Amino acid sequence: MKNTIDKIKRELGEHVRLIAVSKTYPPEVIMQAYEAGCRDFGENKVQEMLPKYEALPKDIRWHLIGHLQRNKVKYIAPFVHLIHSVDSEALLQEINKRAAQNQRVIDCLLQIHIAQEESKYGLSYEEAHALLSSSIWEGLPHLRVLGLMGMATFTDDQEQIRREFRTLKQFFDEHKSCERENVKMQELSMGMSGDYPIAVEEGSTMVRIGSAIFGKRQYN
Ligand SMILES: *Cc1c(COP(=O)(O)O)cnc(C)c1O
Repeated sequence: MKNTIDKIKRELGEHVRLIAVSKTYPPEVIMQAYEAGCRDFGENKVQEMLPKYEALPKDIRWHLIGHLQRNKVKYIAPFVHLIHSVDSEALLQEINKRAAQNQRVIDCLLQIHIAQEESKYGLSYEEAHALLSSSIWEGLPHLRVLGLMGMATFTDDQEQIRREFRTLKQFFDEHKSCERENVKMQELSMGMSGDYPIAVEEGSTMVRIGSAIFGKRQYN
């Protein structure tokens, strides 16, 4: 596993952060990636992240990358490092409230729906533009938006994937003008095992890689 991680890190270069997506893998497998130097791990479910947070070293930075229900925010608010999947104002309000209760500032990304598939979560570009241009941000002092996240269509069409990432990067660049105290366009979370080289070429700052590190997932 160390060889694979080292190889991916070399491909990413110094400016792109590797998030090792450990969903479905048990703590002992995650520890192999930890021993190989990984400190950023991504999980898509709160109920799976909690026991791993309890069991594993406390210097791990936990990234919530999957759809987050409002009623689950309270469980991760004490420790989560970055929430990649924020896709509503209601969720922002809840994260702000729970962060305040924990005397923290929680870092978030807005998830944008960039794929053709219907099933994926995320804001449309129009919705994200409206949110970023709105005046809600002063009322959310316990959170920071650091950038955007997107998942490309699951397809073999490399050009389509590239277009989707490129459009997201353009939107990201254009919305630097919306920056304020707690809204920054610094991080662009795009790229998974199958498409991270394209994502990096198109300006990703964080890739979320699971199966290329840990092998094929077994779902029960
Ligand atoms: C599972 C998952 C990944 C990683 O997928 P791989 O193809 O295994 O690299 C990345 N992002 C999200 C949101 C995921 O749920």
